[in-house]
Amino acid sequence: MTDLTNELTAWDRDHFFHPSTHMAAHARGDTPTRVITGGEGVYITDRDGKRSLDAFAGLYCVNVGYGRREIADAIAEQAAKLAYYHAYVGHGSEPSITLARMIIDRAPAGMSRVYFGLSGSDANETNIKLVWYYNNILGRPEKKKIISRWRGYHGSGVMTGSLTGLELFHKAFDLPRPPVLHTEAPYYFRRPDRSMTEEQFSQHCADRLEEMILSEGPDTVAAFIGEPVLGTGGIVPPPAGYWEKIQAVLAKYDILLIADEVVTGFGRLGSPFGSDHYGIRPDLITIAKGLTSAYAPLSGVIVGDRVWKVLETGSDQLGPIGHGWTYSAHPLCAAAGVANLELIDTLDLVTNASETGGYFRAALADALGNHRLVGEVRGEGMLAAVEFVADRDDRRFFPADAKVGPRLSAALLDQGVIARAMPQGDILGFAPPLCLTREEADIVVSATVKAVAAVAATL
Ligand code: PLP
Repeated sequence: MTDLTNELTAWDRDHFFHPSTHMAAHARGDTPTRVITGGEGVYITDRDGKRSLDAFAGLYCVNVGYGRREIADAIAEQAAKLAYYHAYVGHGSEPSITLARMIIDRAPAGMSRVYFGLSGSDANETNIKLVWYYNNILGRPEKKKIISRWRGYHGSGVMTGSLTGLELFHKAFDLPRPPVLHTEAPYYFRRPDRSMTEEQFSQHCADRLEEMILSEGPDTVAAFIGEPVLGTGGIVPPPAGYWEKIQAVLAKYDILLIADEVVTGFGRLGSPFGSDHYGIRPDLITIAKGLTSAYAPLSGVIVGDRVWKVLETGSDQLGPIGHGWTYSAHPLCAAAGVANLELIDTLDLVTNASETGGYFRAALADALGNHRLVGEVRGEGMLAAVEFVADRDDRRFFPADAKVGPRLSAALLDQGVIARAMPQGDILGFAPPLCLTREEADIVVSATVKAVAAVAATL
């Protein structure tokens, strides 16, 4: 093969529009082009031969780790047999039907059907359309508003970018758009009154939600969407009692609950779903990432019985549902999903997420919990975050332009470990593959300690 070293760098700068990238800096060559060429277990390798321990599993998605032959073979076999056929008008393929069955077997109680998409964003788009359709069928055309949360992340389309509650995804895009509203984030570390207990803060969040519903008019509010654990907004597990109190408010005003389990579905919290983990009883569940461990792009909406029954009666009135993508239930992606879910079971990765995840979080807290710049070490299952502050006693944050988070993740990369600087706040996020071992967890923790020391020396 010809040596593409120089060509690739030039082509990348001149032709590749990268997502979530500083476009001008990249085009100027101020930021590095990193071409990833391989992956094995929890490690990735770039074309210069540099190996990094990927403690963020790509974008919290390569849950079974890199280089799994079983999934690669399943995709190749399906490609040779039947690369594509659509799923419209009752068509399917062996893997897509099998996968729907496997998902319902693993899903929380009361779930009925799976609609397949390709990304978490498009699955949330489907959710919102289904919510509107549901209320139209029920003869409630005014009940259409969707309440999301500040710091929620639900995608970056027009509707889903509106659902997202992070400034970066709104700025200069004319988002968020109605009928999306945002309520308080369940972020205990940043609670408005430090004397509040977790239960009190949860009650405060539920009260704020109820105030919003009452001021908008309960007959206009259709659904509430939330991630069981806030992900991109800072990796923030809910305070005690949060989901119970929120669900009581939603039930009171007949508002549907969408659990966005794009990150938490299929084991990341050490339970099959985040809904099981926190006693959430959703009407709709968004899935993606861990469904195929990103070996192929696949997402889904799991529709609960309550919504499904109404949708069925709706098609008797309205005819076939006018919703679908060319690639819905794509056979190659479905084959990847079947092999991936089998692998999660065979390797008992949900248990490992709980046990090794617990070990990892405890080790991070031991190593960094008392550091002068660390405000909080938190997480759940195989998800962890370290939040940095300028002053831990006053809970004073660094100015955003000091870029402490990005400097920390860059220093960590120098130590051979990838963690993510979360987009809002100085937060290092960790979401390693669910197959992480204790030895690998130790490597991540000691590299993080060194990276924090290096950056702290400059502050
Ligand atoms: N929902 C959640 C909770 C996510 O974390 C993400 C992506 O990170 C999405 C939705 C959007 O998924 P995608 O990037 O596949 O569109």
